[in-house]
Amino acid sequence: MKLIEITKDEIKGKIGLMPLGSIEQHGPHLPIGTDGIIVEWIAQKVEERFRDQLILYPTIYYGCSKEHYGFPFISVGYINMINFLLDIVNSSKNAGISSLIIINGHGGNESALDIIRREVNMSNDKCFKLHIFSIVGRDRDLFPNIIDMHAGSVETSRIYAINRRLVREDKLKEVDDFTIKDGVFKTIPTSEANKYGIINVGGRVEVDEEKGKMSLESAVKDLSDLVRKVLEQVKNCNNNA
Ligand SMILES: [Zn+2]
Repeated sequence: MKLIEITKDEIKGKIGLMPLGSIEQHGPHLPIGTDGIIVEWIAQKVEERFRDQLILYPTIYYGCSKEHYGFPFISVGYINMINFLLDIVNSSKNAGISSLIIINGHGGNESALDIIRREVNMSNDKCFKLHIFSIVGRDRDLFPNIIDMHAGSVETSRIYAINRRLVREDKLKEVDDFTIKDGVFKTIPTSEANKYGIINVGGRVEVDEEKGKMSLESAVKDLSDLVRKVLEQVKNCNNNA
């Protein structure tokens, strides 16, 4: 079920699934909404499998993207993000959602999500839990000689597998520098690390539809496993209450 399509009587006792992305530069070849597009695609597939037990939230496209200073991004500050997400989590709980899973597609959101998870879960509520399913850093083994830290082989192949028209392959061909300066995401933004904004350690960005599909499908499978686990936890918790 989709949150924006259900009625007030259909929310109680369901698990929520919320995709979280970012609006930020992804090199000259990928869309600015790449992170949200990927997590939304995965979340929709999982919602189809658990239609009666799961409520799919609208994707939150805006994330924390300060590390792209010097390139275009539209972003929320860390403190605002923490408060914004806490409000959504708390009102979900009040609305009757039994537990919430956030599927995150952007590395810059992770520190805020870690704080929120602790804030929510280290309370005396034994049943409602916030789970974070992150696709950041997954599937690096698909491209053994490359570490895709941003807009590289994994992300490009995933987007290609979702909708190949979203990858500007002609623009990617024009990229002639894949070197990366030290300190990216820690002491320098992407604009200082690589002039194209691609952080693909090891060389050229590879575009492989098959590997992109494998990456997406393994995320659907692992997220489905987590949903099953959370459903079980909620059931046990309610039985013991
Ligand atoms: Zn990304």
